[in-house]
Amino acid sequence: MEVLRQAETLRVAYETCPLCEGRSFVPLGETACKAHRAWTEGLPEKLTWLGCKACGHVFTDAYWTDEGLARLLATPHGHQTPGHDVEAARSASAVVVERIANLRGSLAGRWLDVGFGDGSLLTTADEFGYETVGLDLREVCVRGMRGFGYAVEKQSLLEFHDARGFDVISLCDVLEHMPFPKQALHQVKRLIAPHGLVLVTCPNVDCFAWKWLDERGQNPYWAELEHHHNFGRARLYELLSECGFEPVSYAASRRLHAGMEVIARRR
Ligand SMILES: [Zn+2]
Repeated sequence: MEVLRQAETLRVAYETCPLCEGRSFVPLGETACKAHRAWTEGLPEKLTWLGCKACGHVFTDAYWTDEGLARLLATPHGHQTPGHDVEAARSASAVVVERIANLRGSLAGRWLDVGFGDGSLLTTADEFGYETVGLDLREVCVRGMRGFGYAVEKQSLLEFHDARGFDVISLCDVLEHMPFPKQALHQVKRLIAPHGLVLVTCPNVDCFAWKWLDERGQNPYWAELEHHHNFGRARLYELLSECGFEPVSYAASRRLHAGMEVIARRR
């Protein structure tokens, strides 16, 4: 009974599609998730994935409550701690910062990195000349980057306030973790300067690499306990557009399996 009670307080079932509020779903299957690094007793042993009949979005049948999220965040997360594989991470981040700089025509400005994790994008943007602010929910990440003198807060995007406006806001491997991505993008719109750029990176269900991983039974994302969504490029573009952003650049991720890096401009 204790396990049952816990499960109810940790996850809440989606009643409608988290993107379009459609009410008809197609079951896409279940995946065992006990082997996930963040799994502990009392968490669900399987993830159930659904497809929205109205908009095609792929998502889990339930999302984490604040209590559930706290349980997940309590587990160590080696590759997302400051300094992890620092040289390779810096090289990969530099490519992203250069793309942003080329689109903006400037190496200056204010940059908000949401969910900075290992800190590589934050520190590389700082290195290139941006004034950076970072948000992360993991204490170890915030303490680590603060120790190096970076402006970082242990805060969620939805609770963060800033009156000056950011020229760039990055959400790297963040949107798929959020129960309601539209809320996040509406908040980005409030925080971003006119014509500012938003960077979204996440896995891409529409690419061949994803299908190849599926074909071989090696796709890690179906068992990813921390994710609520699997976006495709087309659906992500629609979502960005619905929230007031125009996609202006696409690239394959150098860091994520089957990942995409999308840059969109605030209209
Ligand atoms: Zn939908």
